This record gives sequence, C-alpha cells and structure tokens, in this order.
Amino acid sequence: MLSKHRLMVPGPTPLPPAVTAAATRPMEDERTVRFAALFTRVVDNLRRLIRTENEVLVFTSSTTGAFESAVQNLFSPGDRVLVANNGAFGQRWVEMSRAYGLEVVEVRAPWGEEIDPARVAAALAADPGITAAMCVHCETSTGVVNDIQGFGEAAAGVLTLVDSASGLGACDLRADEWGLDVVVSGGQKALMTPPGVAFLSVSDRAWERHAEARLPRYYFDWGAARDAYAAAIPRTSWTPAIGVLVALDAALEQLFAEGLDAVFDRHRTLGRLARSGLRGAGLELLTPAQDRHASVTAAYVPDGIDADQLVDLVAERYGVQIVGGSGPLAGRIIRLGHCGYIDALDVISAIAAVELSLRELGAPVQPGAGTVSAMQLLSSTTEARTPNGALIALAAGLEREYQS
Ligand SMILES: *Cc1c(COP(=O)(O)O)cnc(C)c1O
Repeated sequence: MLSKHRLMVPGPTPLPPAVTAAATRPMEDERTVRFAALFTRVVDNLRRLIRTENEVLVFTSSTTGAFESAVQNLFSPGDRVLVANNGAFGQRWVEMSRAYGLEVVEVRAPWGEEIDPARVAAALAADPGITAAMCVHCETSTGVVNDIQGFGEAAAGVLTLVDSASGLGACDLRADEWGLDVVVSGGQKALMTPPGVAFLSVSDRAWERHAEARLPRYYFDWGAARDAYAAAIPRTSWTPAIGVLVALDAALEQLFAEGLDAVFDRHRTLGRLARSGLRGAGLELLTPAQDRHASVTAAYVPDGIDADQLVDLVAERYGVQIVGGSGPLAGRIIRLGHCGYIDALDVISAIAAVELSLRELGAPVQPGAGTVSAMQLLSSTTEARTPNGALIALAAGLEREYQS
C-alpha cells in the first residue's frame, strides 16, 4: 500500500511549502546589497525570536558547531564551568567542555526529570571558581523542557549559556528578561528550515569574556563574525549556506505571521495530544505530563516490545518517521517530535501508526484507543474556542458564580 512520508522526529522537521519554494530559488552571491537585506532581516527576526537586544551571530554548521563556537570564544584552558546534565545533550556539553580542557562541575538529574534551579544555585555557591553555567532548554532526548527562567536566576552571578536547539520557536524563551548571556539554536527543529545554519546571541558580558578567552578559534571566531556583520554590506565571515538562509528567511516570516503566542499555544496543544494519544495506546510516558514539555514527547514501550523495532515498523508500514531513544533509553522508548510545521492531525496519524504497529508486534492494544483519546481531547479544545463553546463556558462560569 502506498504511504506518504510523514516526518515526526524532533529535527529535521517538515518544511512548509513556502520554505520549500524559497529553497529552490536560483543561487545568488552573498556579497551583494540584495542578499545583505535578506541576511539582516534574518538576524533581526532571530533577535525578535530570542527576545534579545544582543547581537546574533550566524554560522554555517549544525547547532553543535555553534555551541562549540561558544566554548572556543568564551573560555581558556582550565576554566571551571557548570553543566546541568539531564540527558543526551547535557552530556554532549559535558564531553565537549572536557575535550577543550575545561574543568566541568555537573549538576545531574535523571533522564526524564527537570533540572532544579535551586541545585544550580547551591553548586555555584559552593564553588566560587566556576565562571559559567550551561543548561539545555528542551532536552530532546527525553522531551523535558527545563525551567530556563529559574536557571537564569540561579546562575545570574556567572555567564549563562543555553542550548535551545529544539526549544526556540516551540516554547517561550526570553533571553534578556531571564538574563541569558548566550542562547544557541539552529534552523532544523522548530524553525522549519533545512539543516545547515546555526546561530547564537551574545551579551555584553559574554563579549567581555570573549576578549580574554585564550582557546584557539578560527572558523568560528566571534570577532570575525561580528566584523563581517558590521561591514558596509553585512555578511558572514565565510561563505554561508546561502540556500538555507533563504529558506530560514521564509520560515521566520511564516512563524511571525502565525504569531509567537499562537505558535507556542499550538505546540502546547500538540504536546497534550501526543501525551493523551500515547497514554491511550497503553504507553507509559517518560516526558512529564505538563504543558511546558511541548516540543517532543517520549514514552516507554510495553514490556516485551523492542522500541527500535517499533520505530522501523511504523516507518515501513505507514511511512511515519518517529525515533527511538539514546544512551540508557535505547530500545526502551519512542519519541514523537511535534515541533515546527506540525498540526493536530499529524500527531493523531502518528499515534494511529504507533498503535497499529504495536498491535502487529503483539502488544495488547486495541487500535483506536490512543487516537480516540487524542481526538476527544482535540474536540474539547476546539469546542472551547468556537463561539458556541465560549458561550457554554461563559454560561458555566455564571452558573458557578450564581451557586457560590
Ligand atoms: C538537535 C539538538 C542539538 C544539535 O544537534 P545538531 O545535530 O548539531 O544540530 C543540540 N541540542 C539539542 C537539545 C538538540 O535537540
């Protein structure tokens, strides 16, 4: 049977038609006034998205590269840094920092649990030699969205670095309000863009640190990126992924046309649908059932089922691409990405494919249990938004008031 390809992983994510169209435009030279207009618009929109007045630097790399640039540009060998580690990406920043000769103090939480900002504050208070703290916004390996506002407050005395690769554009983030010195992200998650471009914001405090940092840097030198952007015709230090920047420009336009609040609201709804559907299909959630965890949802597969086999079957039979777990969760969980260009029916069709495949693998699942549960939730969400629904809610409210 023919099946359409449905990409439901937390990066890369599906491209909206306008982004695909932009990505097919003829190649152009990046050293022109014409391209600089697009590039500066992209940078301005990224600053709007990160909610910062700080400079934003753009690199041709995946998000790991942009994060590496932060390590190279901010530190000297032997510097002590704190890394909040509650999943695969926290672990990546621990390893990267060590690879560059930094001394790492970890604040760990189990995979699937949030980082407690109070523990970050305590670790910093206990070790005044620490000069920076790093935290992941959405820990994509588990779906957990950490409390970055709390992290920013807890680490206000040191330089703060946040990896918002899969958080930015799906969950609220306010760099300046929350005191975040460096926010790193990339295009291929919630920003609905082909992979290849990553970026970060740099506070004044981070620029001061950059001036003293002694780790070697060249391709990712922030000073070179800043100078190139300050030139008469703003550009990147080296040849950028021109086609990806054109696509990112279109994606950001679409994001702001939908409106940031509407985008966050949609992701919250998708998170609820995913949790309700997976739970309805008999899976136990790894991602906690709270609205903040809105970008990706992870759940344990039933005993006797191999999660990776389930992922393969879902793709083979129904064309839906989901993903399994990594590290300690390999083979035990599936993850449903719902950040970016995803709607409610995308989530529901993924749930349908999961329950049909679970059944085929012999799990005691009644196909439809998960989808019905998600659809009931969707229908109550939709009703609450229709004029009738608003009247009903109003009437119910009045009645409650009358009775009390
Ligand atoms: C995707 C992701 C990254 C970056 O991965 P790349 O493969 O380098 O793009 C970093 N952190 C988190 C939390 C991610 O989800």
